[in-house]
Order: sequence, then structure tokens, then C-alpha cells
Amino acid sequence: MLVDKFNRKHNYLRISLTDNCNLRCNYCMPEEDYDFTPASRLMQVDEIEAIAKVFVAAGVDKIRLTGGEPLVRKDAGEIIRRLSALPVFLTLTTNASRIHEFIDLLEELGVKSINVSLDTLIRDTFSILTKRDLFDQVYGNIELLLNRGFKVKINVVVMRGVNDKEIVDFVRWTSLNPIHVRFIEFMPFEGNHWKREKLVTWQEILALVSSHYTIEPLARFPHETVKKYRVQGFMGTFAVISTMSSPFCSDCNRLRLTADGKMKNCLFSKGESDLLGAYRRGEDIRPLISQTVVDKAEALGGQFAPDLILMDANQLVNRSMISIGG
Ligand code: SAM
Ligand code: SF4
Repeated sequence: MLVDKFNRKHNYLRISLTDNCNLRCNYCMPEEDYDFTPASRLMQVDEIEAIAKVFVAAGVDKIRLTGGEPLVRKDAGEIIRRLSALPVFLTLTTNASRIHEFIDLLEELGVKSINVSLDTLIRDTFSILTKRDLFDQVYGNIELLLNRGFKVKINVVVMRGVNDKEIVDFVRWTSLNPIHVRFIEFMPFEGNHWKREKLVTWQEILALVSSHYTIEPLARFPHETVKKYRVQGFMGTFAVISTMSSPFCSDCNRLRLTADGKMKNCLFSKGESDLLGAYRRGEDIRPLISQTVVDKAEALGGQFAPDLILMDANQLVNRSMISIGG
């Protein structure tokens, strides 16, 4: 079992398959001409499988594939197939633009739950936010997932003056659809021009929804990063991921592997451990994994001021979101 010095047990690994993506969300990918990591420096299929097995032997029983966009990788299907053979709950975070190409495979391999990013329900706003005209494809693929019986969670990064006016529309969407909308507080990463003023907090989101609907809180399961609610009588639910205003670090069970094989013990950790390098040199990677877990900071990578108002995003040492893997 992977236990840190605060006695947190880690059983959940998020693996980034690539830092490449077919969308250009500016809160995630800093530049249009971002240099993607060359294929030779990415973990190859055998390496992903072998490293994942080491984590599984150490107690990991949930793996999420992410990126970049995991489904733009040519061998994504083979990676999903290999990892689905491990004794883990396997899931995926995707922008859904290529789900139609993978849905049969996902169904065949028993993947049950998919997180989809969608920050707007307006076609034109989607094109502005992502710099790509793929709204209809993404929306159609969300419907496809629902029709085929997948559990669908929708990730919405809320930014003031950008999409905060759609919060109630997203909640209304859960009325007749069994979808789970998760509003994510906008987080700072290298190059994403984060400002305190753009952050819409959990408290603000809740107050806004409550002014339109009668809502009921739902039970929080251990390690969950969301505060969940349901509007009375609605089929779906909504939730807020309050990383910034009310972090959930005290029972965090997550570890991360970047597409180039670096292990991060927190989304906001300054440091990273070169697991792929060690693996390619034929070393035993288990001590490196254990040490990286032990080194985990108590909260938010040890980088944030306790008061967000005091936080200077320029002082953060981290990669951009796209190169970490969300
Ligand atoms: N391409 C896939 C997608 O968009 O779902 C997976 C990778 S993406 C980096 C994973 C998640 O990180 C997405 O839900 C995205 O909205 C979220 N994300 C990216 N940048 C963020 C930021 N600055 N603040 C909060 N969430 C962010
Ligand atoms: Fe691509 Fe996802 Fe980042 Fe958007 S949030 S640029 S879809 S990786």
C-alpha cells in the first residue's frame, strides 16, 4: 500500500497518454504553437502496462487515462485494452470528440464511466474557447454515450465573464438527462493567465443555483473531490470541485504519471520523479514510487498561500495542465 507521511493511502493513478490534443482550450494549453512531446519520449504501450502493473501490485485499484486528449493517441485502443485486463476500475477523461471511434471498444472492455469536458452549451462559445469547430461532434458523442448506457460526468471549468452565465443552463440539462455535471474552479497553471477575479467559487456557484432551484446535498464518498447536489426531481446531479476555495487534500488518494513517464504526487507538486528513465535503465522503480508518495505535501503541493487573495500565480512552479494530464 502506498502511504504518505500524513497516513493517506493512495489507490488511484491518473495516467496521461499524451500532451497532444485536437482542441486548444486556453486555460489548459498555453499556446497555439505549443511543442508536443515527441513520440520517442512518451511512455510506449509496453512501458505503460509494465509501470501500471507495479502500481497495481502496490495497491492501486483505479486508473484514469487522461492527457492532453487520450483518444488522439494512435495506440490509445491498445493501451485501453491492455489496462482493462488489470484488476482495476478503468476510466477515462476525454473531450469526447473521438468517442464515436472508440465506443464499441470501451463497451466491449467493460469501461462504464467516462468524464467529458464541455465548458459551454453554446456552439459559438465552444469554437471561441477551444479554437475548434467541434461542438456538434462533442455534443453528439455525449448523447451517444448516454444512449449506450455509460455513466457520463461533464467537467465544466467555470470562468467569470466566459461561461459563468451558463451555470444554471448546465444544471437544467440534468433535469431530463442522467448526467452528472461537475463545475470545476478555475486553477492556475503555467501560461494560463489565471487571475483571482476569474475564479468563480463553490460558494458563488451554489448560491446562484439555489436562487433558481431547490437543491439537496448528496452523500460524499471517501476520497471524492466533489461536493454533490441534486435539484429535487431532476434525473442527473451537479457538483462542484472546489480545489481553490475549499481543497480536499486531507483524504487525497491520487497519484499521477505524465505522458513522458514522470510521477507527480500532486497536481500542484513542484517536483516529479523520472519513473520512465529509471524503468528504461532497468532499475527497480518501486523505491522511487514509495519515496515520491512519502514526499507528498500536506496540501496543494505545498505551493499555495492559505488565503487565495494572497496568492501570486506567477510564483507557482509547475507544468502547464496539458503537460501534466488533468
Ligand atoms: N482532453 C481531456 C479533457 O479535456 O477532458 C483530458 C485532459 S484535460 C487536461 C482534463 C481536465 O482538466 C478537463 O476536465 C479540463 O477541463 C481540466 N482542466 C484543464 N485546465 C484546467 C484549469 N486551469 N482549471 C481547472 N480545470 C482544468
Ligand atoms: Fe485538450 Fe482537454 Fe486541454 Fe481542452 S482541456 S486543450 S480538450 S487537453
